[in-house]
Amino acid sequence: MKIFRGSDAPFRPGDTSTFAGPVHTKPLASAQEGTPVHVYHVQFDAGGRTNWHWHSGAQWLLVTEGRIRVQVEGQQAHDVDTGDAVMFAPGEKHWHGAVPGGRGVHLAVNVNAETTWLEPVADEVYEPTFDPAG
Ligand code: MN
Repeated sequence: MKIFRGSDAPFRPGDTSTFAGPVHTKPLASAQEGTPVHVYHVQFDAGGRTNWHWHSGAQWLLVTEGRIRVQVEGQQAHDVDTGDAVMFAPGEKHWHGAVPGGRGVHLAVNVNAETTWLEPVADEVYEPTFDPAG
């Protein structure tokens, strides 16, 4: 058994080359033997989100606080709540972040995965505006 104390490492601002807006993250746990697994704790405040990216292995998100917005390229966005979980398949291009105007926190469990970071999520994709003329 190995215990990973959440208090052992501070949250740090998200890397601005891979995140946008107010994001704080820290590694929580990892295992290198057998199937590599990495667990991250990520806090998004309003406007905070990842860039578009994909993982070479599966990624699981476990929502621990607030509400998280997730979107796979070419699909509509979905909002998920505290207690919900999301799985992204290997190679699936996606982003995750806070819902607009709200806060969301998730654990991210990356299973045997390298992450390829892509372009930022445009504001109009993150928060589509209602067009009454449309
Ligand atoms: Mn991801």
